Parts: sequence; C-alpha cells; structure tokens
Amino acid sequence: MEQNAAVNIKIQDVYEASPIEGMMPSSQPDEFIVVPWGEAANKDIIIFVEMHALINIYRHAKSSPQKEVGGFLVGYPMREQETVFVLITDATHAQHAHSMGEALSFTHQTWKMLDCQMSERFSDKYVVGWYHTHPGLGLFMSHYDTFIHNNFFSLPWQLALVVDPATENHMFFQKKNNRLAESGYYFYTKKNQENAASLKKMIDRLTIAQKRERSGRYKRYSMAV
Ligand SMILES: [Zn+2]
Repeated sequence: MEQNAAVNIKIQDVYEASPIEGMMPSSQPDEFIVVPWGEAANKDIIIFVEMHALINIYRHAKSSPQKEVGGFLVGYPMREQETVFVLITDATHAQHAHSMGEALSFTHQTWKMLDCQMSERFSDKYVVGWYHTHPGLGLFMSHYDTFIHNNFFSLPWQLALVVDPATENHMFFQKKNNRLAESGYYFYTKKNQENAASLKKMIDRLTIAQKRERSGRYKRYSMAV
C-alpha cells in the first residue's frame, strides 16, 4: 500500500498542469470536422474527443463483453481566451487491471505501466481522465467509481467515461459543483473524406445505441446495482 501511494502521488504531481493556450477544434473549421453530442453539463470546461480515440475505446470495450475493462484518456487541458477545454487525442488500455465482480481495480503495475506509456508514447501529453466498461449494467458512476475518480483523477479538467458494450452506448462525466455530472461533448477529427464518412457511420451507430439503452432490453440483472 505504501508503494502504491508513492506511485500515485508521483502521477498526480507529474500531470498537474494549467490549461495550455490553444485553439478549439471548432475554431478551426478548415482543419477539423466537429459534431456536438448531447448537452455539455459544465459549459466552463468543454470536451472535445478525437474520433479515433473513441473508436479505440470501443474496440477495447467490445473485446470484453462480460468483464469490465478500462484505461486512460490522454490529451491536453487547454484554454482559448476565457474558455477552458479538454482535448482527448488518444486512449490507452489499462494493463494489469483486475475486474472484481462489477468493479475494476487498478493495481500498482497499472500505474507503473501508465507512467511508462506516458513518457514513451505521449511525452508531451497529459492524463485527462479514465474510462471503464459496465457490461450490460448501464451508464452511471458507482460509489466505487466516484471514489476512484476523486482519488486519482481529481483535477478539474479530468473526466470519466463509461461504456456499456451491451448497448454500445457511452457517457462522459465531469465535475460540476463538486459532483460528477453527465456531460455532452464534441467529436472532432481531421477534415478529410474518409474521416467524414467514418464519423457519419459512428454517429448513426451511436444513435441506435442510445435507443437500445432507452429500451432497457439489454440490461443484465445485477446484484451490485
Ligand atoms: Zn463502474
């Protein structure tokens, strides 16, 4: 436990940062395609997710239809004039994470691997949050999830993403008045024909996923909920 605490404190210190000056993808219409998804719960911090990062997370989620899996959201906390926004550019799978019943736990090894990945693959980027799956359980932050978030992802611009591989729906959560609230966001991707077609396909699939979620037919009975 001692060792774990030391590693976690180091991760928090390394990734604590003030937002970096830059432009929102929506301010660069020649460069990016930007599509809103849902309502932004906290207009103080706007979320932009690169399409391929979300595709990567969905592949991970679908690879494990029964057991929870998770990982980390990578990118930049940024600012354009007075507007603070989070750019999620990449996602990386959590290694050595354990699924115990309905809960996912990150181990000492998970944090060590994250530290390695951040310095090797994403040296100029930040851990802007985490994601995990709720197979057949729906989209919410459990008490345990909230505990994880408050302890390891407590910076104001750090986000949580929950994906249900059964419905294929997902939801972002961000801090609002000290509570985790559901949040809409924007998809963005580099402007070209191939990306435009992929994004359209993704939006169509997510629209169906939302309907599945609302129908409730895909819910798995769980003692934990
Ligand atoms: Zn959870």
